[in-house]
Amino acid sequence: MPSLPALLREHIRTIPDWPKPGVQFRDLTPLYLDAGAFRRVVDALVQRHAGSDIDRVAGIDARGFILGAVLAHALGAGFIPIRKQGKLPAPTIGEAYALEYGQGVLEVHTDAITPGQRLLLVDDLIATGGTLSAARRLIERLGGQLVEAVAIADLPDLGGSAQLRDSGLPIHTLIQFE
Ligand code: AMP
Repeated sequence: MPSLPALLREHIRTIPDWPKPGVQFRDLTPLYLDAGAFRRVVDALVQRHAGSDIDRVAGIDARGFILGAVLAHALGAGFIPIRKQGKLPAPTIGEAYALEYGQGVLEVHTDAITPGQRLLLVDDLIATGGTLSAARRLIERLGGQLVEAVAIADLPDLGGSAQLRDSGLPIHTLIQFE
């Protein structure tokens, strides 16, 4: 059986110059397509957090929903969608984050978290860390206790995961692309 990093390397494809020139886009859809490979990822993360007493898993719009919802189910936790601006119907709070050109805003329903609840934050990939950092601020403003931020892939050359770790957020990723 291949190691998990070897399996991930085999099932994540790189699309050069997408969505714009200079970006090496790491496409995880082949991983989700392969039932056995996707299961290995889920099993590894469920095993890691089986004893963590997670109340809720927060997934980031939109690629964080795929893994986040599966982990919530497997861990017996509720799922919180953290969405891009204007998508959530009930009262929200928002946090801005930097995009390559300009700014985006992430929002969460104010009733999604009860203070003191233990949360896992999930996205597919960490690049600059701006997205996770905004999501973290939302969770902490609502009194959630962030146990760990989890992503399948990390781009360490962009420094995002290191910066998040330095600021005290535990980060766990399964594969690094230099
Ligand atoms: P960042 O906020 O810079 O850490 O960007 C992370 C978010 O953007 C994640 O939700 C990813 O889905 C997406 N993303 C950024 N860069 C890439 C990349 N090179 N390949 C795949 N997804 C990316």
